[in-house]
Amino acid sequence: MPLRKHRCVTRKVDADHPLAGKTVYVPAMAEGSAEAFCAVLRWLGIEARPTPPSDARTLELGGKHTSGDECFPAKVTTGDFLKIAQQPGFDAQRTVFFMATTNGPCRFGQYAPFLRKVLREQGCGDVQVLSPHGERGYSDFQDFDTAFVRTAWRALVSADILRKLLLQTRPYETLPGKADRAFRESVEDFCQTLEQSCSDVECQLRSLTASLLRARTRFHAVPARFDPSRPLIGIVGEIFCRLNDFSNQDLVRRLEDQGAECWMTDIAEWIAYTNMEEARNLRLAGRAYSWAMIKSKLRSRIQHADEHALRSLFVEDFAGYEEPGIEEVLELARPYLPFSGVEGEMVTNMGRSAYLVMHGVDGIVDISPFTCMNGVVSEAIYPKLSRDYGGIPIRNFYFDGQQSDLERDIGIYLELARSYREKKPHERYYPSRFPRQEENADMPAVLR
Ligand code: SF4
Repeated sequence: MPLRKHRCVTRKVDADHPLAGKTVYVPAMAEGSAEAFCAVLRWLGIEARPTPPSDARTLELGGKHTSGDECFPAKVTTGDFLKIAQQPGFDAQRTVFFMATTNGPCRFGQYAPFLRKVLREQGCGDVQVLSPHGERGYSDFQDFDTAFVRTAWRALVSADILRKLLLQTRPYETLPGKADRAFRESVEDFCQTLEQSCSDVECQLRSLTASLLRARTRFHAVPARFDPSRPLIGIVGEIFCRLNDFSNQDLVRRLEDQGAECWMTDIAEWIAYTNMEEARNLRLAGRAYSWAMIKSKLRSRIQHADEHALRSLFVEDFAGYEEPGIEEVLELARPYLPFSGVEGEMVTNMGRSAYLVMHGVDGIVDISPFTCMNGVVSEAIYPKLSRDYGGIPIRNFYFDGQQSDLERDIGIYLELARSYREKKPHERYYPSRFPRQEENADMPAVLR
């Protein structure tokens, strides 16, 4: 029984806050995640919404204002932002475009400066571009406080959980559309819950976990037949392209339509990776014992605890699909791309692929934009990783906005995955919603 009565309180930005009275548009990178992130801003009293769905106009505008050297996600996000700038009644002074940034070896660090340049050229230089930095673990939300960063982390982890429930259920539904519906309702429920949640961290966590449990009930109610003969395909690659259905031409759904289940690498992994990078860079700069390092470590520790609290609700649902800690991912990447010498998603691609193989997936698909340097480097190393792990089929799918006939490539690839399945060295653990598998008998009791 609580010792004192708790009174919920909300926390809103002051009227003189730079974002007060403005609308923040967030790139709709991943369905569910963008909505949840916007809900965090609204929780603070800041109007926020995801960019409208991408379409042919997105590519037209993005193509017009890019030279062709930019990465495909830059073209998509620029096109989506410019669509907003062309809406009737658009008010540049009251609009903010959200575009995270980072240093490091790839072109992602150029997205925000590039967007500012295009906006200036289009006479929209008054639009503010809000650009938190990956090298500081995305913690520098200008005068936002730590509560915002913590709530945003909870939102992203929760959206990852909802996506995982969707991808685990949809391939097996017996009434088409039910899993998507459960997902949409759960995202809506979660966003409303978060927006209205208390500013006390414990109270907020209770309401978020209650919302996630309602989501679990919704997914459990989806009529489904869990068929263990479906190949399980691990999805890695560039974060935007692998999560953005428009950019990857709905590749995950197409894999499902041709008989697969997909295990998507989530967003939380990238945030955890940037936290590790932040700490490493501080050490390299001789600041191992600094206030910045203490803050970074503390933030990682709190995020880890929150993630554990949210994911632990789904121990049974996610049995056999446990997410690795970033330390494990980097350790598994070490024989291919050591963390100490290389940066970027190519490192996490290697470690995550090895982890997925060891958890019994039947194939790996890397989804990346055409010419993505992380994708290109990863593609060069995958053959070695495949040889080291029993010949697992690893296939890169590149996207640049051109329509291509994917069906044939997917069909051939899944045939390879099915034959690998017959001889794979690492068996998969099937959770209890599947008919009992013989191989599960060998699993430790704690997982059964
Ligand atoms: S990860 Fe690839 S697509 Fe993304 S910015 Fe870097 S090079 Fe471009």
